[in-house]
Amino acid sequence: MTFYHKDSKNSVIFDESIKWHSQEPKGKLSMTLPKPINGQYDLALAYSPGVAAPCMEIYQNPEMAYEYTGKGRTVAVITNGTAVLGLGNIGSLASKPVMEGKCALMKRFAGIDAVDILINSENTDFLIDVISSISGTWGGINLEDIKAPECFIITEEVQKRVNIPVFHDDQHGTAIVVLAGLINSLLLTKRNIDDCKIVINGAGAAAIACANLIKKEGFNPNNIIICDSRGVIYKGRIDGMNKWKEEYAVITESRTLEEAIVNADIFLGLSVKGALTKKMVSQMKNEPIIFAMANPDPEISPDDVKEVRDDAIIATGRSDYPNQVNNVLGFPYIFRAALDVRASRINDEMQIAAAHAIAQLAKDDINFSKSYIIPLPFDERLKYTIPIAIAKAADESGVSRKKIENLMLYRDFLKN
Ligand code: NAP
Ligand code: MG
Repeated sequence: MTFYHKDSKNSVIFDESIKWHSQEPKGKLSMTLPKPINGQYDLALAYSPGVAAPCMEIYQNPEMAYEYTGKGRTVAVITNGTAVLGLGNIGSLASKPVMEGKCALMKRFAGIDAVDILINSENTDFLIDVISSISGTWGGINLEDIKAPECFIITEEVQKRVNIPVFHDDQHGTAIVVLAGLINSLLLTKRNIDDCKIVINGAGAAAIACANLIKKEGFNPNNIIICDSRGVIYKGRIDGMNKWKEEYAVITESRTLEEAIVNADIFLGLSVKGALTKKMVSQMKNEPIIFAMANPDPEISPDDVKEVRDDAIIATGRSDYPNQVNNVLGFPYIFRAALDVRASRINDEMQIAAAHAIAQLAKDDINFSKSYIIPLPFDERLKYTIPIAIAKAADESGVSRKKIENLMLYRDFLKN
């Protein structure tokens, strides 16, 4: 476990975090009552006998659950703890601080009530059954830190069985923010989407989802080469393959990242620390776009890139460098919109709309440049612009069950 060792440069923040988490009330989540329950009459409304009325309304029309319960404002953050941050498979209980954190960010940035659900199992069929069967409680499901390739199967199968959105932030959330950064990087380097050569290093949850979304945006799949721990994923390779990797297997002479990276326009790193070398960077095209997103330490440090060239756009997963690819720019607003339109799923159209709206915010800012390609997490504009774009996309692509008629009023609601 390389991420967490107490003698590391993070020792002060680790110690402070332990204290912070143990302060009363412990942890990061708490519940509030949306209406007061004071006295006998309120009790009769909230519980027996009055509660029978909303129960029977829902029994007759399940959609009424959105009218009489908290379903429509609640998201479940569900994990089995098999791929937690950079910590790996630490189990579901140890992942609880991360899951509470995800819920807290949903509340902080988008006013969503979220609940962490820890499932102590690595059995894919069991997970699919459990997650699907408890879906009535929520308006949306955020799968979190479930390892690949099981996460692909679970996301897809649960979505087939339920009529609320199933989103896996490590896949879809990452892809949205990466695409936002790429849209602006292409603009700043005057590149054409059709002829960019892209090398993606990593073929796990995040990398495959990024490949899927950028393909939907219009990047040419013939120009995408994916590498994993064994090198290039080429047509005919047998070792370490799965059906998700197979989809990106290309006919190429290249067998290593070192060979594939020559003359590439874009490098997307979703793999491990140090995978990209200075020599490789020097062999990329002019004004290369380098997203080195392995956490906590990137595939190459921005300082190392700058040693070999000064024309690159560099993004990482870190907050101490410019251009942080931070999923918090995406998931709170995706769920805000999905809940508000009662979306049955979060489709590609919604994800692409989110990416464009995030990119637009950076573009509209006076700081727009190679070192400001994506907005910062505390940018107030996010909360009242991104959900509007997503809600419109949901409506236009036919997955919303509740049309937002007045977008100006919706904007006012989001602002408050
Ligand atoms: P994952 O599902 O475990 O996938 C990791 C992938 O990296 C696997 O395909 C693995 O190859 C590959 N890999 C390992 N060593 C490699 C090497 N030396 N060269 C090339 N590929 C190698 O993990 P994930 O969830 O996709 O995340 C991957 C990384 O991206 C993590 O460091 C994560 O923290 C980071 N990430 C960052 C952000 C962000 O900054 N916003 C978001 C998501 C993920 P095999 O398939 O051969 O095992
Ligand atoms: Mg995660």
